[in-house]
Amino acid sequence: MPFAVHHTLAALGSPFSLPCQPTAVAAPQWLAFNPELAAQLRLPQAFWGTDTGVGLFSGNNLPDWTKPVAHAYAGHQFGHFVPQLGDGRALLLAELEDESGQLFDLQLKGAGQTPFSRRGDGRSPLGPVLREYLVSEAMHALGVPTTRALAAVLTGDWVQRETAEPGAILCRVAKSHIRIGSFQYLAAQGDTAQLTTFADYVIQRHYPGCANSANPYLALLEAVISAQAVLIAQWMSLGFIHGVMNTDNMSISGETIDYGPCAFMDSFNPAQVYSFIDRNGRYAWGNQPKMASWNLARFAETLLPLISDNTEQAVALATKALQQFNLINETEFRALIGKKLGISEATAADEPLIRDYLNLMVKNSADFTLAFRLLSQSVADINQGAATLFNDQTAWQQWAGRWQQRLAEQGLTSADLQSSMDAVNPALIPRNHQIAKAIEFATSDGDLTLFNRLHNALKTPFMLSEQDEELGHPPTPQQCISNTFCG
Ligand code: AMP
Ligand code: MG
Ligand code: MG
Repeated sequence: MPFAVHHTLAALGSPFSLPCQPTAVAAPQWLAFNPELAAQLRLPQAFWGTDTGVGLFSGNNLPDWTKPVAHAYAGHQFGHFVPQLGDGRALLLAELEDESGQLFDLQLKGAGQTPFSRRGDGRSPLGPVLREYLVSEAMHALGVPTTRALAAVLTGDWVQRETAEPGAILCRVAKSHIRIGSFQYLAAQGDTAQLTTFADYVIQRHYPGCANSANPYLALLEAVISAQAVLIAQWMSLGFIHGVMNTDNMSISGETIDYGPCAFMDSFNPAQVYSFIDRNGRYAWGNQPKMASWNLARFAETLLPLISDNTEQAVALATKALQQFNLINETEFRALIGKKLGISEATAADEPLIRDYLNLMVKNSADFTLAFRLLSQSVADINQGAATLFNDQTAWQQWAGRWQQRLAEQGLTSADLQSSMDAVNPALIPRNHQIAKAIEFATSDGDLTLFNRLHNALKTPFMLSEQDEELGHPPTPQQCISNTFCG
């Protein structure tokens, strides 16, 4: 099958996007490349690890099949509406079609100023590029819908943040970068015709089945609610905290996008945040369903005039759709945690067992990842495995007794239980302190050894080799990092 390029968003023209060229960089150099993803996208080999590739991924020498545009969007940032945000440091180059016919955005992040940059420099420091590369690829390997990292280059320029840092550009790939904020941008302009054009485009691109529904725009709302409810449950089941769940960072396709001050938790604390700008814990681990639901209500508001000419009726329909969020999210979370505990089909009756384990983890500040991973070693003997994580041994023993009884109902062998649990409980997540160390080595010495080692090990997060075992260890109190910074 030949390489297939599209420009469907660019073809919609203004106000959905504006043409914009990248700004040349001084001395681009390869940092990382993802050959599996390049092959999936059928990207010509000429761009793999070559000068031609550097030209593409730095934006210095774009091939003629690209048509760069900056996408327009608005957004609620920490609850406050900003009518115009847009791609201030990102450019959509093209959409590439894979063998199944799925389109993927090819986007450069950090390629220079755009009409939406406001006071920003349009650039990205090396640290956030490496962080997004590692975390997004790890998310993919963990089976969570996400943008992916195709390539990263150093620019050879310095980027001024708190200090001067090496600049870098990430090429990321997504089913699209269309956000709730994309709809808010059009709705804020009060132009229902443009909004309808865009909603029809999004239905065709992401949820073609909705076109056949009696009310396609209500069906679109329901589809996005469902995709987000499932996604947030997946994040929660892995201890992931997005960090900046503003409406401009919530994708319509249901993929994780815009990795900023995100992190996988070490010891379990539902109130955990990593972003120093999130002083009130708005986007803490345990608040994520509520915040996603709030964001979806903002999405629903944009669709009201499309759902019905009768506002009251539109509100009633949208409200009913929004009420599904909690049910879908909670059912999915229960199913996922159930599997992590070795319960193949958790029901409402399993909720106390699930809740009590999470509470036990919190009370003992157990490491989120290890508290599930080590549990398979407790199947045959509750004094082994996860037992080592709990100071309160009485509480552990009580819970573990109930758990073993529940497992016994399934009539599976210990070996089968262990392997099913090990297939859903990662041995390795991108630990914050390891990412920070990899970034520090790369930034201070240009040393990518740890970055490459982490990246490689995170491709198989459910299987940790002996030589990489230490990468799975939680941080010591001295290694613990409480803040991550967006770039
Ligand atoms: P974020 O916090 O990354 O989700 O970005 C929020 C908004 O700020 C988006 O419109 C970004 O495009 C814009 N932005 C973030 N960083 C920069 C930058 N360095 N230069 C220009 N715009 C930026
Ligand atoms: Mg963003
Ligand atoms: Mg960001």
